[in-house]
Amino acid sequence: MSSTTTEQDLASLDWTRRLIAVDTTSRNSNLELIDLVAAEVRRLGVEPLLVPNEDGAKANLFATFPAADGSTDGGIVISGHTDVVPVDGQDWFSDPFSAQIRDGRLYGRGAADMKSYIGAALTLLPRLAEADLSTPVHLALSYDEEIGCVGGGRLVAELERRGIRPEFCIVGEPTSMRVIAEHKSVNVFRATFTGVAAHSSLTPDGVNAIHHASRFAVAFAEMVDGWRENGPFDPGYVVPFSTGGVNLVHGGIASNTVPDRCVLEFEFRSVAAVDAAEVTSRVRAALAEIDARMRAEDPRAGVAVEVIGQVPGLRTPPGSAVLGLGADLGGLPSEEKVTYGTEAGQFTGIGIGTIVCGPGDIAQAHTADEWIELDQIAACEKFFDALLARVTA
Ligand SMILES: [Zn+2]
Repeated sequence: MSSTTTEQDLASLDWTRRLIAVDTTSRNSNLELIDLVAAEVRRLGVEPLLVPNEDGAKANLFATFPAADGSTDGGIVISGHTDVVPVDGQDWFSDPFSAQIRDGRLYGRGAADMKSYIGAALTLLPRLAEADLSTPVHLALSYDEEIGCVGGGRLVAELERRGIRPEFCIVGEPTSMRVIAEHKSVNVFRATFTGVAAHSSLTPDGVNAIHHASRFAVAFAEMVDGWRENGPFDPGYVVPFSTGGVNLVHGGIASNTVPDRCVLEFEFRSVAAVDAAEVTSRVRAALAEIDARMRAEDPRAGVAVEVIGQVPGLRTPPGSAVLGLGADLGGLPSEEKVTYGTEAGQFTGIGIGTIVCGPGDIAQAHTADEWIELDQIAACEKFFDALLARVTA
């Protein structure tokens, strides 16, 4: 499908180019980008709420364009994440942080995921500021989405603390402008098994961290296999059951030494019928049992578990008002449930009706030579035109 849109048709490219030019790989600070946006919303007369991370190197931004009567209650959130995945080891045709247009496509890191959406949103802001709005419109930008929706969790907690309760939220991950109502939860953990080193001929003097880690890995694999064999099943997904795995292991120093350390990283992704909190408790209980067993062997041994990231599933019921909103604004109806996690589940978690709908295809996200069709950017601009018409009606 070739693009019929040309560069001149698009109002949002200036902003999108500026956003792509800031290297917001998750390991970096996002403050340069946040400062750009904060300056723009202040220029338009709105004071943004900044929600920093622990060390202040990153921040979420939340800005409310109030209704004409001054009300900031309810309204629609336009939500995006500012961070992008690394380009390390990828072979790019052009500089990933300098957007280029070739053959009807915009190339650059974040072109699809998700700076074109944010660029179109920022282009809408001056028009929002000028209009008499019937309901508020909020802009929500987060940090560290790509490493487990870390910033989003902090942002929704802060909104809840302040009693800020918008009615609807549109998370602009690349769905090719389809309206997506469901995705699985994503839950990522790290377990560090601390044993006691010894010569491998003197096993009673040591505690074998790898053996104990293996006990957990086997139990976890059995749980995951159970989902695959017995469900619960949800045919809306490409993989119609909950999945999981121990996906990284580090441990041991030599074949003749009882290992004193083994680290496992593991995850699970659950369908709606599987309670992620309940699975998390089972995981913790299994590790606590192994911890007790290791301590019984030697009080210096044990297991520590950390949650790396936990993204709630999104399940917006059929018939929800927010699905009607997405369709009214020109989002394409879709039965599909997506396999990737987003911040949408975090917004529904505080009672905001949420959909995922944004320009570009997830297939190009995270890849070398990431691109988005200019047609998709045009569709997103039209979507925001429709949003403006809706909130000024
Ligand atoms: Zn994304």
